[in-house]
Amino acid sequence: MRLITAENGVQYLHSDILGCPNGFSTRVGGVSTLDHTASLNLARGRGDDDETVLENLKLFADAVGVDPESVVSLPQIHSSKVLILDGSARGQGYFLPSDLECDGYATLSRSLSPAVKTADCVPILLSARDAAGNVFAVSVLHAGWRGTAGNIATRGVEALVSLGATTDRICAAIGPSIGQCCFEVDLDCYDALCSGLGETVELNTCRKGEKFYPDLKSINRDLLVQCGVKRENIDISELCTACRTDIFYSHRRSGGSRGTLLSVISIN
Ligand SMILES: [Zn+2]
Repeated sequence: MRLITAENGVQYLHSDILGCPNGFSTRVGGVSTLDHTASLNLARGRGDDDETVLENLKLFADAVGVDPESVVSLPQIHSSKVLILDGSARGQGYFLPSDLECDGYATLSRSLSPAVKTADCVPILLSARDAAGNVFAVSVLHAGWRGTAGNIATRGVEALVSLGATTDRICAAIGPSIGQCCFEVDLDCYDALCSGLGETVELNTCRKGEKFYPDLKSINRDLLVQCGVKRENIDISELCTACRTDIFYSHRRSGGSRGTLLSVISIN
């Protein structure tokens, strides 16, 4: 994964493995001026006015090379629900209201750029190639610890398979999120992760005294591998949102007073 500074000043991470336009935003290069949202906040309800959020969306979309009006970002509910969207969802979440809620979507539509919002949770982008190597379907997933526990990674792969993908031609990029270094949880959260996922969680968790440190990025990588995605087709950002508040928003580090990151993908 590469950190790119676009001509308009926006910094974002790009994964070459996906083979299509994609980007994980940082907080750098936007027009938000509040201390906690400066400067590329991409969500409403965090203190910026609508005009500022939409200007940031335009800057980020331009930097990544997608049409801002094609971006779809539906209300997220920490579930493992993944929807299949068609072109009618275009613009929902920013320019149009939505009555759908979910934490992931997949599409064959070239007129959509699916996106998820995070600030410590794990964003996952997936692309599926046809036999000729062209990307024909994409998916995005919001995997916090609840989504991870509900195995949203597998639900995302299943959604792409339902659209005609074969798992050995799916590529994945796991974006910047809270790292094992900073994600300290108590027994109840650890138990909830283990109850659905067992050994996959145990193998990716450190324990110090009464505290547990699950590595959500590695857990999601292993879940993708278990459902047939090749390990060499998975790209993982090493960056921790809570360690690097200079370039990211972190819900945990900020005590909840923060802007929001966006991760987007598009077929063209
Ligand atoms: Zn950290």
